[in-house]
Amino acid sequence: MTLNMDQLPKLPSPQHGIYCNRTLNLRTIRAIGYDMDYTLIHYNVYEWEKRAYKYLKLKLEEQGIPVDGLEFDPNLTMQGLLIDLELGNLIKANRFGFIVHAFHGTKALDFETQRKNYARVLVDLSDDRYVFLNTLFSLSESCMYTQLVDRLDDRQLPEGMGYSDLYRLVRENINYAHMEGQLKQEILNDPDTFVMLDEGTPKALMDQKLAGKKLLLITNSEWEYTHPMMTYTFDRFLPENTTWRDLFDLVIVSARKPNFFSDSLPVYEIVEENGLLKPVFGELKQAGVYHGGCASLIESHFNLTGAEFLYVGDHIFSDVHVSKKVLRWRTGLVVRELEDELIALENFHEKQVKLSNLMEEKSELERKYNLVRLELLRLQKGGQTESDASEEELLLLRDQLRAEFEALDAFIAPLAIESNSLMNENWGLLMRAGKDKSQFARQVEHHSDIYMSRVSNFLEHTPFAMMRSPRSSLPHDLTTYPDSINR
Ligand SMILES: [Mg+2]
Repeated sequence: MTLNMDQLPKLPSPQHGIYCNRTLNLRTIRAIGYDMDYTLIHYNVYEWEKRAYKYLKLKLEEQGIPVDGLEFDPNLTMQGLLIDLELGNLIKANRFGFIVHAFHGTKALDFETQRKNYARVLVDLSDDRYVFLNTLFSLSESCMYTQLVDRLDDRQLPEGMGYSDLYRLVRENINYAHMEGQLKQEILNDPDTFVMLDEGTPKALMDQKLAGKKLLLITNSEWEYTHPMMTYTFDRFLPENTTWRDLFDLVIVSARKPNFFSDSLPVYEIVEENGLLKPVFGELKQAGVYHGGCASLIESHFNLTGAEFLYVGDHIFSDVHVSKKVLRWRTGLVVRELEDELIALENFHEKQVKLSNLMEEKSELERKYNLVRLELLRLQKGGQTESDASEEELLLLRDQLRAEFEALDAFIAPLAIESNSLMNENWGLLMRAGKDKSQFARQVEHHSDIYMSRVSNFLEHTPFAMMRSPRSSLPHDLTTYPDSINR
């Protein structure tokens, strides 16, 4: 088949895009490391969290906590929110740390209560008062917590228990390692239920390998889980007689990220037949499988440093924050929710244009209203007026303008409500807090050079892509670059 310019694929759709915070030239990247869970392998989040919630509920029930009738409700919470341990609230903050939305238990705080509680509060993620929801069992944990806040307020929980005690109770019962082990066993027994296959991921990695990149798998999962899961998700899409092992120049399991990036930890070779560990003497082997170790070992093994590495993972802190901060590796974040978020925004586009136009119209009416009000004040208080209008005329005009912009609210309000409940009826979009960027988006911007909804998005961008960050916007750009609106 011949291929001419017109037959080449068009620009990928927005949900398959790779988005750039800091310009990244893939040609200068010599090695790409990948996390496995929720990066190379995608799980059905709802199934995973529903199971975690079920285990959590059982554990709490054993201790006499009244959890009867509670069900996992994904609309009650989402990634990127915070738990305020002092007040027992779930909160969403914008990029400055201002709280834009809050729930106490399963009910939204009314405007006045929210203002009273948070008008002087700026969220600092390092403050013990807050728990940032960005870990594996965040959804099940925060859903249970917020449901139990209702029961704590109803005095159904032990006497003397406060909101932070309740959080500790829920957290302890999540028993991370145990539950993860149990869930992973369920996934191994029935991967079809939990795993979402993506043919594009192994294909993208094959291209990167052909282009001479060294590929690394660096996962916190154990070998007993990693091997069968990579076999299940990758081998079916690879050429005959090859396996996922042929793709990687090095495999690190039980990596203990984020310490993997910052500390000097011992490394062991895995005896593949039985999973036993043996000490490493001398150099690491090409395509070997190792347990533990650390990033500096990898850098010296490949004789590469800093910006020659790109590490791609889904966890803001463990995967991209530390690797960038300590090693200055280039970083890519997988934000799975972005795909649905972009589809929701696309579907809402027409209404968004309508909303923006209405808001512009309202601002202009408000501006004129204020001018008339000022003129009236000057007239009444003996100031210098700009016109010859009488007090009656100004009063009439003022009331007309006010009636006009207030009438617009009837059209604006339903659109604004809809815009704030895209993706999640209670919390809206992950990357937005009202019109502004969310605190989660701020973290993404800070720590990841690029971000995408899935690794297979690399496929259409090729291993040679020059990824340029867009011109960033400032409020005054609206006057000189009106097209840069909403970035
Ligand atoms: Mg992961």
